[in-house]
Amino acid sequence: MNIPFGVPMIGPEERNAVAEVLAGPILVHGPKATDFERAFAEFTKAPHAISVSSCTAGMHLIYFTLGFGPGDEVIVPAQTHVATAHAVELTGAKAVFVEAETETGNIDIDKIEAAITSKTKAIAVVHYLGVPVDMPRVKAIADKHSLFLLEDCALSPGASVDGIHTGLHGDAGVFSFYPVKHITTAEGGMIILKDSELAAKLKLRKAFGVDRTHGERKVPGVYDTVVLGFNYRMSELHAAIGIEQIKKLPDFLAKRLANHQELSRNLANVDGLNVLPAPVNDRFTSCHYCLSVILDPTLAARRPEIMDELTKAGVGSSVYYPQPVPRMTYYKEKYGYDETLYPYATMFSDQTIALPVGPHLNANDMKTIADTLIKIIKNINNG
Ligand SMILES: *Cc1c(COP(=O)(O)O)cnc(C)c1O
Repeated sequence: MNIPFGVPMIGPEERNAVAEVLAGPILVHGPKATDFERAFAEFTKAPHAISVSSCTAGMHLIYFTLGFGPGDEVIVPAQTHVATAHAVELTGAKAVFVEAETETGNIDIDKIEAAITSKTKAIAVVHYLGVPVDMPRVKAIADKHSLFLLEDCALSPGASVDGIHTGLHGDAGVFSFYPVKHITTAEGGMIILKDSELAAKLKLRKAFGVDRTHGERKVPGVYDTVVLGFNYRMSELHAAIGIEQIKKLPDFLAKRLANHQELSRNLANVDGLNVLPAPVNDRFTSCHYCLSVILDPTLAARRPEIMDELTKAGVGSSVYYPQPVPRMTYYKEKYGYDETLYPYATMFSDQTIALPVGPHLNANDMKTIADTLIKIIKNINNG
């Protein structure tokens, strides 16, 4: 493939950093995880950053630490990665799905209040494809009902609202460093938050609930376990990659923006196809995970063929996300599924194609992607 959808941007810096860790004695509990946390906090201007083994682990850790369990409900978007809902369900609490808004694919804020019950403990939002949710509006609802507000920031490093980084509008934000995300540590995640007390609790639960970190143990082997906890730590190898990746993030973001703008221009005015906007204005800064094209229903019916032709032409594409989460078998069987509730969440799953704009690509690639797609659509319309 000439133009893959996503490529981990690993260079000699990351390779050397990992080799250096491997040459030493410290593979966990070391300075790399703390350095990466510090760098991530600096980038986002977060008071606290806590490294974890994945975004899913981070979200689960938060809900578990808050004591969520059977009988509790958390509002989540219907259009998202299944992890957003799984993190809730893992505690025994129930994920309650809310429809997407058509303009952005983000949770429809106007529909949140109707989903709140006496059992609701939290609202989770997702910055879909890096377009930030209008957080002040969601925050007002969360405050009015005294609910915890979690931001799934897996696709939103670099995205902000009113000059404040995503993840810092609500009570906590969780990022993912899975290989095809904006930056990678192979597997990994980061929680950012403002509240020092909650940060301390999360750190405790992240590592078995043990009352002393490795560095704090004056006498080796002397520690106590005060609460139930996980092993959701990030290793020094993963963190070493992250330290190099975060240095490159501003450059990656600039390339994503330029590619997105170029591809948007190239795909403007194509019949049967609309580009999902990714605003950069005085309030919202998107971070361009991909460029999503919305196909009209006739073209959407032929999406498998269109994507197959793209692949044959060497252009990678993807679907975000392949199903509205309540339509996935696990959730469908557990809660039943009423398709009339989520027409827009369903539209994003069934009628869009995600095209690559990652930093591995340039303006020429954007031209190739657009030309290829336009040609495929012409052939379909004529044939
Ligand atoms: C990728 C993704 C996740 C999962 O991240 P992991 O680090 O793999 O756990 C969660 N939420 C969203 C919105 C994602 O895109």
